[in-house]
Amino acid sequence: MNAAAKILIVEDDAHIRRLLRAALQRAGHAVVEATTAREGMSLLDIEKPDVVLLDLGLPDRDGLELIQPIRGRCAATLLVVSAREDTAEKVAALDLGADDYLTKPFDTEELLARIRTALRHRSSEQEPDVQLALGEVKIDLAHRRVQRGSEDVHLTPKEYGVLAELARKPDRVFSHANILRAVWGEAQQDRVDYLRIAVRGLRQKLESDPSRPRLIVNELAVGYRLSTRND
Ligand code: CA
Repeated sequence: MNAAAKILIVEDDAHIRRLLRAALQRAGHAVVEATTAREGMSLLDIEKPDVVLLDLGLPDRDGLELIQPIRGRCAATLLVVSAREDTAEKVAALDLGADDYLTKPFDTEELLARIRTALRHRSSEQEPDVQLALGEVKIDLAHRRVQRGSEDVHLTPKEYGVLAELARKPDRVFSHANILRAVWGEAQQDRVDYLRIAVRGLRQKLESDPSRPRLIVNELAVGYRLSTRND
C-alpha cells in the first residue's frame, strides 16, 4: 500500500465532508478541512497538503476559479469532486489543471483508488524514462518502443503520440483537447475526429478485443485514459 498523505478537503456540505473524512482516515490519511474557497486557499499555504479534494460548488466562489491559483501555489494533486453531471465542466476542470475528477455521489473505494493512483504518480514523476507493462503490452517511452507479447508494434507517429501522452499519467483522464494540443498542436485542439482515428488504430493494434477496449478507455464526452487495471 502507498504511504499516507495529507489531504485537504474543500467542501461546504457537512455530510459529504464527514463521509470523505471517515473514508480517508480509515485509509490512514491525515485530513484537513475547509468549508469555503477562502479558507481552502489559506489552509493550502499553512498545511501544504499532498492532495486537494475540491468541490466545485462552494458558497463564496466557483471551484473552477480556484484550480489555477492552487496549481500556481503548490504541487498538490488536485482532484475535483463535483455534484454536477455537466461534462463541459469536467473538461474545463481538466483543462485548467485538475488531475482528475469524481462525480457525486461517488464510491469511496473509487475515491481511494484515485488517490492511490495520484500519489503513485507524484513519487514516479521524477523518473523521466517511463516503462509500462499493461498485460501483454509493453510501452517504453525512453526508446519509443511498443511491444505486444514479444512482437514490436508499428504505430503511426500520431498513434504513438497519443499513447505516449496517456502513458505519462496512467489511469488519469485526459480531455480530448488536452491530447489534441499535445500531439497535433493548439490549432487542431477541436479535431476530435483526428483523435478518434488514432485511438481506433491503437486499439486495433493493442487491444485483445478492439470493440471492447480495456487499455484505452473512453471517458464519455470527456476524453480517454490508459487503464492499468486489468480486471
Ligand atoms: Ca458544495
